[in-house]
Amino acid sequence: MRLIIYIILIFLLYRIVRAVLFPKKTPIQQKNEPMLHGDETVLDPICQSYFPKAEALSVRNGNELTYFCSEECREKFLKKT
Ligand SMILES: [Zn+2]
Repeated sequence: MRLIIYIILIFLLYRIVRAVLFPKKTPIQQKNEPMLHGDETVLDPICQSYFPKAEALSVRNGNELTYFCSEECREKFLKKT
């Protein structure tokens, strides 16, 4: 019986040591938007497609930033407004 208690204790100790040495990183994800490559995605109002913000072209419209997938979409948006 004692051996089982030792095994449980060692197992618990191992769990604690592992938790201290390798804390779990829980990434904060926004689930209302589709994720691409783990980056933040933005919606192109012209072609209605999502793409990574890092690749986006942006236009400042007052205090708002609007993002576009390409120069073409940005041109279309600028002509519309
Ligand atoms: Zn586009």
